[in-house]
Amino acid sequence: PHSADRPHVKPWIADIHAYVPGRARGVDGRELVKLSANENPLGTSPRALAVLAEAGTPERYPDPDALALREAIGKAHGLDPARIVCGTGSDELLNLAAQAFAGPGDNIVHVRYGFSVYDIATRRCGAQVVVAPDADYGTDVDALLACVNADTRVVFLANPNNPTGTWLPRAEVERLHAGLRPDILLVLDQAYAEYLPDGEDDGGMALAAGAGNVLVTRTFSKIHGLAGERIGWATGAPHLVDALNRIRGPFNVTASGQRAGIAALGDRDFVARSRDHNAAERTRFVNVIESLGNHGLRAVPSEANFVLVLFEGEVTADAALAALARDGYAVRHLPGQGLPHALRITIGTTAQMADIAATLRRLCG
Ligand code: PMP
Repeated sequence: PHSADRPHVKPWIADIHAYVPGRARGVDGRELVKLSANENPLGTSPRALAVLAEAGTPERYPDPDALALREAIGKAHGLDPARIVCGTGSDELLNLAAQAFAGPGDNIVHVRYGFSVYDIATRRCGAQVVVAPDADYGTDVDALLACVNADTRVVFLANPNNPTGTWLPRAEVERLHAGLRPDILLVLDQAYAEYLPDGEDDGGMALAAGAGNVLVTRTFSKIHGLAGERIGWATGAPHLVDALNRIRGPFNVTASGQRAGIAALGDRDFVARSRDHNAAERTRFVNVIESLGNHGLRAVPSEANFVLVLFEGEVTADAALAALARDGYAVRHLPGQGLPHALRITIGTTAQMADIAATLRRLCG
């Protein structure tokens, strides 16, 4: 019921559950080691850090077109800068994609256990959320396509996916795309693509280059260690980029973000170190979880910088969350996303992962 004494929040906005960020504080307010937000445990690209230490000209607006950054991204990825749009993190671009292509009466499809921003992006433009069933925490292309109907305007897919870490191979991504009408936008969210093994590619960039209905999003938050600077980008056909450019904030990427992003792209050593560290520690950690399989622990196969650990026996996710917090670590519990029985653990430093392993082993007796 509307009251006349205050502004009316739109009903589709009132229905939104605000994003719950990964935090670093325990229930008792204690500061914990934060393995709850998929940040880079090696820190930030040193080259980007050096640039961030410079004063710059903060009294000036940044380049509204982020041209130098788009040129650097274009050079690094073999893309025409005219087909790139930068955002305040890739979060902003996901929201803009929904807003530009869907509205009241339309729907947007994503898979169960998808990235929680998709739900918010869909609702905030007044569209309906359609959730496709998963296949053992991974993406089931046939189930996803079966959810698409005449009102579908956008499909969101993160690959690798968050919070599951699962990866959909190229042939399946292409089959998904081939099954969609050309008037449906497929947003392929590649926030974690840099963590894939050498040579692995889900074909998203090729689709974005060749098809008129595919937008690929990327971020500097993970592999480059620049989550705090809020820099993301998207690439696709000119008519898609044009739509996002019309509605984005005119100065949506800060000056320091633009400079740091360019420096980070040139820091191949940091990217390589981050990838190698992640691959080695993730393999070691998954082995630990497998060794606790008789206690009901299971690791969902991950290609990202985190692992979703399932607790399917007597040891519960709640107990593990509490034990990890007691030992100083914050990890991600997502009961609101249908995962009360799971914890998403970001790959940390070697010492941190050894600590986590020790806590879980102790808990399992
Ligand atoms: N997509 C996915 C799948 C993510 O996990 C994240 C980070 N949580 C983002 C997009 C957003 O990243 P950012 O806004 O920092 O670029």
